[in-house]
Amino acid sequence: LVRLRARLARSQSALGRGLLELLSRDRLDDDAWDEIEDTLITADVGVAPARAMVEELRTKVKVLGSRGHDEVRALLREQLLIQVGADMDRTLHTTPHGERPAIVLVVGVNGTGKTTTTGKLARALVGDGRRVVLGAADTFRAAAADQLQTWGERVGAEVVRKDEGADPASVAFDAVSKGIEDKVDAVIIDTAGRLHTKTGLMDELGKVKRVIEKRATVDEVLLVLDATTGQNGMRQAQVFAEVVNITGIVLTKLDGTAKGGIVISVQRELGVPVKLVGLGEGPDDLAPFDAEAFVDAILG
Ligand code: GDP
Repeated sequence: LVRLRARLARSQSALGRGLLELLSRDRLDDDAWDEIEDTLITADVGVAPARAMVEELRTKVKVLGSRGHDEVRALLREQLLIQVGADMDRTLHTTPHGERPAIVLVVGVNGTGKTTTTGKLARALVGDGRRVVLGAADTFRAAAADQLQTWGERVGAEVVRKDEGADPASVAFDAVSKGIEDKVDAVIIDTAGRLHTKTGLMDELGKVKRVIEKRATVDEVLLVLDATTGQNGMRQAQVFAEVVNITGIVLTKLDGTAKGGIVISVQRELGVPVKLVGLGEGPDDLAPFDAEAFVDAILG
């Protein structure tokens, strides 16, 4: 956890430094407030949340007696915690129901880190002594199933796969069936993220979900979003949210961007909490999202 914090801090603290510097200026005129808003928007906080935050800060600064570094930092911390949703429920539903495994569906556009996240999540569960089956429901690229197979071998999880071009829903069904028969704790299904057309995606994912539900309820639908793609990623996220009922967001590649503000905009846009963050390519580079640690990383 210390290592994760350090990694977050390195990439995120530029935002905090900028904001603290601006807020500590002797004269906070309109230009200064505009700059603060721009700084937030540049960090992908999103226009509406950035405005709301500036309004709040303006009001608070007015009633603040002295404006020393500690006061400004405390004020900013309070506002960031509100925006980041410090009180959101981020429970990851990966606990089995009696003998039934928990079912997790991993969705998102190709390249965002779906397969890697599936592997890392399996690793974390196996590390906790759980048994996991992985389903390679991205049957459009043979490489995707191979990649998942490699992860399975690496972390000690069985992988259910079929030939390239097989029906993704049938792979998902078989993975769930295998998980039930073997009485494992969790089945995690990696899906294809072909955003060719919205109806195409809807048909594919909808069918996967419907078919799984013949055997078990889906406990968690995780949308994987690449933090480095900014507003473009946000648009993709919206399409997925229209197609399936997302229960949690995984924000990947947070190690490679200073634009952590996307946490704020995506939660606000989708009304769904960020539950996990990806902080690298290795098997242990997945962490539960911790709002306080995140805000403290921003503030340095
Ligand atoms: P998919 O197409 O959505 O399944 O994406 P992949 O899982 O194949 O990931 C695409 C690339 O992103 C790979 O090179 C991964 O190693 C890399 N990647 C995934 N998650 C992270 C992360 O949290 N940080 C970094 N730096 N790279 C990541």
